[in-house]
Amino acid sequence: MSGPDVEKNQSMLSLATSERTEFFTESVIREMTRLALEHNAVNLAQGFPDYDLPEVMKKGAIEAIEAGLNQYAITWGTKNLREAIAKKFKAVQGLEISPETEVTVTCGSTEAMIASLFAIVNPSDEVIVFEPFYENYGPDAVLSSAITQYVSMKPPSKDSKETEWTFDFDELKAAFNDKTKAIIINTPNNPTGKVFTRKELEFIAELCQKWNVFVITDEIYDHMVYDGLEHISMVTLPGMRERTITINAISKTYSATGWRVGWAVAPPAITKSIRKVHDFLTVGAPHPLQEGAAKALGLPQDYYKKLLAAYVYRREFLLKTLQNAGFEAWKPYGAYYIMVDFTDLWERNQEKWKLNNELDFAHWMAREIGVAAVPGNGFYRIPFYGRTKLRFSFGRRNEVLQEAAAKLAKLK
Ligand code: PLP
Repeated sequence: MSGPDVEKNQSMLSLATSERTEFFTESVIREMTRLALEHNAVNLAQGFPDYDLPEVMKKGAIEAIEAGLNQYAITWGTKNLREAIAKKFKAVQGLEISPETEVTVTCGSTEAMIASLFAIVNPSDEVIVFEPFYENYGPDAVLSSAITQYVSMKPPSKDSKETEWTFDFDELKAAFNDKTKAIIINTPNNPTGKVFTRKELEFIAELCQKWNVFVITDEIYDHMVYDGLEHISMVTLPGMRERTITINAISKTYSATGWRVGWAVAPPAITKSIRKVHDFLTVGAPHPLQEGAAKALGLPQDYYKKLLAAYVYRREFLLKTLQNAGFEAWKPYGAYYIMVDFTDLWERNQEKWKLNNELDFAHWMAREIGVAAVPGNGFYRIPFYGRTKLRFSFGRRNEVLQEAAAKLAKLK
């Protein structure tokens, strides 16, 4: 039977797929990667670093394979990796955690997030998410049957003194109520590059304690913080350790998005639930790659210094490139993305480009200019809100960014 025949038969049987899958679409980010390949465009869409990963990681994984560590590891992660995570947590967050009872190794931070939500959320509990948001959080909330309350972050306006994306404290306060179960924070933030300040985190912490709410904090870009700003982990604030789940992964810091190794750190009772969910979702992360990851976490400070210096340069380069091409580009203070608005470009060129609406712009740019970025609608619950925005990633080698710059110059 051919594909179309199977489809016809299925519709005759009225075999319906689940309603929950009707509430979200395919990932806009991964769709743009497909388009970039199709049009041979420079891919500044998906957030994967394209430089090679540290040699010790490769060696660690290869040695593990050769030593026969090719079967399931203990479901919540190998001892070596959990101990390395605890050691790094002590170095970065300054907190002693137990690798035996407070760490769950997962398949990337993606699984850490969904396993955490499944572990703490009951159907129709409310979860607060800042918007624009990393696109997974929307479907994550749907899959865990949570109701999402969005709190908007606003870019600095042209005539304000602010340079950072901000949120309104009263709007956040109003989002909390007795149905609120959790708030998701992502600092440094994708897509805005915002680094949450101590004052903001303290305000959130106070509300979480008042309403007895969990925090799930995704800190996957914790080593990419610029201009002398400080990365502050929610778990370090007074009264927050008991209610905070800290998520991280090797994906971005060590250029290994394909390895699928991440983790969730949480107090023992929460970890117990996360581990149960994790076991039945995936059983475990790839065993030999966990051993390679353990080596990465032991890299000296110098590794992070060099990483940061490389990103500082790339941020400046891409920021200038985008501003020169005619975008309103907001300087990011963390992570490796730049959000832009293209209203001015649109107004000047709309007739020439002959596009139906702004949502077609990212596809047109991949096709005609040869650079793929993510259309802003993927970061908003209502696509219209993000229609004039794009997100570019500078997690790329310098020569790739130079190639993109040459192509983007054509926009002017
Ligand atoms: N969290 C954030 C904020 C991200 O930007 C990404 C990837 O872009 C992820 C999680 C996914 O991480 P992983 O590859 O470890 O699942």
